Amino acid sequence: MMAQYLEIREANPGALLFYRMGDFYEMFFEDALAAAEALDIALTKRGFHLGEPIPMCGVPVHAAEGYLLTLIRKGFRVAIAEQLEDPAEAKKRGSKSVVRRDVVRLVTPGTLTEEALLDARRHNYLAAWAEVRDKAALAWADISTGELRVMPCALTRVAPELARLAPREVLVSEIHDRDIAPIAEDMGAALTPLSRGSFDSVSAEKRLCALFGVGSLEAFGTFDRAEISAMGALVDYLDLTQRGKLPLLRPPVREPVGGAMQIDFATRRNLELTQALSGGREGSLLLAIDRTVTPAGARLLERRISAPSCDLNVIRARHEAVRHLVEQAGLRETLRGHLRRVPDMDRALSRLALDRGGPRDLAAIRAGLAQAGAIYPLMQDAPTLLAEAADALLGQDALVGMLEDALVAEPPQMARDGGFIASGYDDALDQTRALRDEGRSVIGRMQADYCELSGVAGLKIKHNNVLGYFIEVTPTHEAAMRAKPDVFIHRQTTAGQVRFTTVDLNEIETRILNAGNHALELEKQHYENLRRAVLDQSGPIGAAARALAEIDLACGLADLAAAENWSEPVVDASHAFKIVAGRHPVVERALKRQGAGPFVANDCCLTEAQTPAIWLLTGPNMAGKSTFLRQNALIALLAQAGSFVPAAEAHIGLVSQLFSRVGAADDLARGRSTFMVEMVETAAILNQADDRAIVILDEIGRGTATYDGLSIAWATLEHLHETNRCRALFATHYHEMTALAGKLEGVENATVAVKEWEGDVIFLHEVRKGAADRSYGVQVARLAGLPQSVVDRAKAVLEALEKGERDAPKQSALIDDLPLFRAAPPRPAPGPAAKTSAVETRLRDIQPDELTPMDALRLVYDLKQLL
Ligand code: ADP
Repeated sequence: MMAQYLEIREANPGALLFYRMGDFYEMFFEDALAAAEALDIALTKRGFHLGEPIPMCGVPVHAAEGYLLTLIRKGFRVAIAEQLEDPAEAKKRGSKSVVRRDVVRLVTPGTLTEEALLDARRHNYLAAWAEVRDKAALAWADISTGELRVMPCALTRVAPELARLAPREVLVSEIHDRDIAPIAEDMGAALTPLSRGSFDSVSAEKRLCALFGVGSLEAFGTFDRAEISAMGALVDYLDLTQRGKLPLLRPPVREPVGGAMQIDFATRRNLELTQALSGGREGSLLLAIDRTVTPAGARLLERRISAPSCDLNVIRARHEAVRHLVEQAGLRETLRGHLRRVPDMDRALSRLALDRGGPRDLAAIRAGLAQAGAIYPLMQDAPTLLAEAADALLGQDALVGMLEDALVAEPPQMARDGGFIASGYDDALDQTRALRDEGRSVIGRMQADYCELSGVAGLKIKHNNVLGYFIEVTPTHEAAMRAKPDVFIHRQTTAGQVRFTTVDLNEIETRILNAGNHALELEKQHYENLRRAVLDQSGPIGAAARALAEIDLACGLADLAAAENWSEPVVDASHAFKIVAGRHPVVERALKRQGAGPFVANDCCLTEAQTPAIWLLTGPNMAGKSTFLRQNALIALLAQAGSFVPAAEAHIGLVSQLFSRVGAADDLARGRSTFMVEMVETAAILNQADDRAIVILDEIGRGTATYDGLSIAWATLEHLHETNRCRALFATHYHEMTALAGKLEGVENATVAVKEWEGDVIFLHEVRKGAADRSYGVQVARLAGLPQSVVDRAKAVLEALEKGERDAPKQSALIDDLPLFRAAPPRPAPGPAAKTSAVETRLRDIQPDELTPMDALRLVYDLKQLL
């Protein structure tokens, strides 16, 4: 057995091997050590290998999914080796024969299909990036729904595109491993390097043609070599991980470059589109606006929010659909009533295709299609988008009828359990079942007969998996039973019971068993036929599922708009940006939940008919600057995603790119200073933003010394104005910058109003034209609960600084005047006069880059000794 294990182990490097032994998946050697730690399960030993005991651990098969999920989340891949034959068959080959086993599937983060392992409301993408000569492309697939897409994508665009898709796993050729690894790591996606052969575009084309049963890919559009290579690598990898059982992929769709609003990783993170900064979903835009009632609708919303459209026709068609459903509240409720009963058809279909499904998946298709049929007539006067969706809902009556006749109302999950084919569907099955059930009632009658015959009233006929049916009496009645040896045959005596059987009982048992097995066989055949019938229609069923998702999304957005009083935005080809009474959907929701005061709506009108148009926003901390900046970015994004917006009015000239940066976000994990990160991100904006971009910059430059920061913020604003010529909102605490409004034509000052009352500051959260008079930092500090003595001292220092600036704007002299800064001892003058100490000599020879933490600690001890 170990020889077989080692052979399989060697053939599947890079994955933990789950080796099936009866009711367990066992792991050995290093796998056992790693899995025991990751899963927190007991590590044991079994046998010896090269004289050493073999470490081993195992998980029960019935609970394997939970363990798999933990392992995948912790970054492992798992190869599942199953027994491919009955132990009895192996025995036939010889008493020492080992049961044949092999890997039937490689479980990786990007290739999951199990309901329990997937988030129903999220996509699970597997992406592949390929480069062929001067072309490069990104392809991605969600095998749990069958989606397959591809687009040209130069290396520089990989990060933002992956940020949009948030794939769980990324495939690259081994030669590009180094280029993509840091990007994948940033997004928390697993990176899987494949051999160059997997990306070969010639064999890729053959693979794809074979998969889709076409002679040429032209049938689906024109794809360049890089696109074919990327898609081919996906299919190759699926073939490898699914061991030949290819998932049901839909024909590839080519995404147009520039079809979606470009939003890079940092912006997505800052705006908390699908995930809050804290990591969870709570606090994200997606959670705040998701009112869909089906998993597929929720996934579609995620896609829309991640990639708002740049196509005016598409955007308007989506608004029109939402408007229709806002106006027709009754229709909306009826539709949602139907939609709530629509299961996840995409994922059911995918499980059926991979033969990992069961009768419940068939029932899901039945329920989904039945609801589709019910929804169709409701869409008669609907606008284009909904009417087109409705067209995909019909045409499956025959299949629905068949599934309705064939399946019971609530079938079990697994086909092997049986009991899912409705009675009346197949006469042969009904008869076999009758035989089986009749057998069971015969046993009931037999028990009464045997009681009488033996005179033991407490006699019972029972069943277990070892003995089958048997008669059970307490030991006091053993003698009575043994008095009739021609009928009752002794089987077993346990502590409290004596068990017997009879010839008749055996016979009836065999009959029940045979009938039961036969019924199960018949059911399995039916399952297979139904599965095939469904898969034959997988194209139209997939289209119906997409149509239902579209309708669900439109209903969800309409429900949101109606309940939260959102309005329909105007999106056109101008450069306008005019928001009247805009709100931040997430902050507003949070305030409502906390029972805090109402959200104060604010206007934002970047001068129309003029680019660049920039608002320079000043105001104290906590006044609401960040909230204002973000709400405007989100309104633009929601509008182009096809949603209504949280504002009384919105007029938005098409936005091609959205950028958002916040000064000095901590990024210790990547070992870059916060200021460096801030500058790298700002550089990206200044290099990329075009005149259709919207840029929001929040306190850029605060990560460094005052004058450095001010100069950088100043120059950045000038660059946005002169070179990028885009629309921008720029929040800063450098009041000096307000002078720019007078100098640059497109720049206006705005401020978030506060009121001062008895030395405290009251936040009004109102954005007004004009510059803030002061920053109120000390007052905010007091609100935050800084000790009164510190607040008083800070006031004194501030007064001295402000006075100093007025009287003698020479910083160094001013600082010397303040006793606070004089507290530090004067530094000894450098130069030959200063004697070098032993500590200094020791330090001079140190190479910090080469020190381990342990060395560093030792060094501190040594230095201390030298003092
Ligand atoms: P700043 O960026 O100026 O420091 P924030 O935008 O972070 O301030 O806002 C601070 C807090 O003020 C928010 O968490 C929110 O609770 C509240 N707030 C912000 N804007 C508004 C508003 N328009 N209406 C009501 N409360 C608001």
